[in-house]
Amino acid sequence: MKQKTISRSVSCSGIGIHSGEPARLTFKPAEVNTGIQFVRADLKGKPRIPAIIDHVNSIKRGTALGIGEVKVYTVEHVLAAVSGLGIDNLLIEVRGVEIPAADGSSSIFVQLLEKAGIVEQDAPRKVAVLTKPFNYEENGIQFLLLPNDTLKISFHIEYPNPIVGCQFDSLEINAETFREHIAEARTFAFFEDVEQLKKEGLIKGGSLDNALVINGDKILNSEPLRSPKELVRHKILDLLGDLYLLGVPLKAHVISSKSGHPSNINLVRKLRDQLNLSDSPLKILPVEAPEKKDQARSSAPEKMVMGINQILERMPHRYPFLMVDRILEFEPEKRVVGIKNVTINEPFFQGHFPGHPIMPGVLIVEAMGQAGGLLLMKSVPEPENKVVYFMSLDKIKFRKPVFPGDQLRMVLEMSRFRHRICKMKGCGYVGDDLVAEAEMTAMVVDKDTIPDHNTR
Ligand code: ZN
Repeated sequence: MKQKTISRSVSCSGIGIHSGEPARLTFKPAEVNTGIQFVRADLKGKPRIPAIIDHVNSIKRGTALGIGEVKVYTVEHVLAAVSGLGIDNLLIEVRGVEIPAADGSSSIFVQLLEKAGIVEQDAPRKVAVLTKPFNYEENGIQFLLLPNDTLKISFHIEYPNPIVGCQFDSLEINAETFREHIAEARTFAFFEDVEQLKKEGLIKGGSLDNALVINGDKILNSEPLRSPKELVRHKILDLLGDLYLLGVPLKAHVISSKSGHPSNINLVRKLRDQLNLSDSPLKILPVEAPEKKDQARSSAPEKMVMGINQILERMPHRYPFLMVDRILEFEPEKRVVGIKNVTINEPFFQGHFPGHPIMPGVLIVEAMGQAGGLLLMKSVPEPENKVVYFMSLDKIKFRKPVFPGDQLRMVLEMSRFRHRICKMKGCGYVGDDLVAEAEMTAMVVDKDTIPDHNTR
């Protein structure tokens, strides 16, 4: 795997959430082995601050870097975007003291960097590889890091508030998962803390345009949550940005319980210390390319033909009833292979069954039906005006239970398609095990046609 930078300069402007001051940010390509460097382009001599843990200056409601009097505030959301997209070398020029807040997420930075074009450079990428478990705790905050082939982050938060409550999410971090699940998650604050933060001279630029504000059981913003897990996903975003201050990408499964910037930064300091030890569990290694072992084991991202955004465009189902996360294979009028990652956060596990969570068999069939629906929709003209109704389900067999943590793979094969009616055979797998099968008959109808009572 090669190092990456961008192919041209791109800019945006905005105000800093804490300083309230305007700033202009420009991403510029950088040579191999430059790393990520902030440049205060508005100061004499355009001083640079490498984005590494040694230059962390303050961690009050955000991560700030500084060398002497030269400072850049609130770097974590832009660093998360750079890390999430796998960029190794980049100059981040700032005219102003703080990175623009944009909408409180990393979306704008992702859009800009992708607009600039991400390009490979002629040098191997180096990563910090964890070889043994590593654990760090402070004041009830816990980190556990486990060896893993990629960077994966699992995060648990718990707030005594009905909107946030207890949330958990766990994701392999790559450009695609970052773009789809993490980048858009906004920063959040509790209404009761706002006055105190203002007193401390913070959030002078804060508004409902750049942060979610939670008051009791209400969100004060007019834009609702972007996903049910937006809040925990923002914590993942912050941690990802802070972890990049290690100075090299990390290859490990990072599990965090309730961490924030101060503890994230302490963790990265501990990891940095490990890098300097001879018998350390953390080693900097060049990434061999391509990694044959990885490809054989997780060919899914290579083969993906439809990601969640395209699925959302083509299907009417939404949370909690959308049961397809990704399409891996697609042959029009023949075959589709989709996956559904089943997590403990699925709403049905609350009641099915407490203390013994298993996925309801009918929902396995539903997941197969939804993947089959996609196959059918792609086989008719004007799919945007059509919906799929299932007419019959036969020979349903449930062979094995599906548990939280399983990846359900739905394989649908079309055996007949005539006069808008189609027959499909569906099989559900977890790993190599067949967990369920069914024969389905479905019909494509115009959206404005009322179906017969025997269809659904
Ligand atoms: Zn944040």
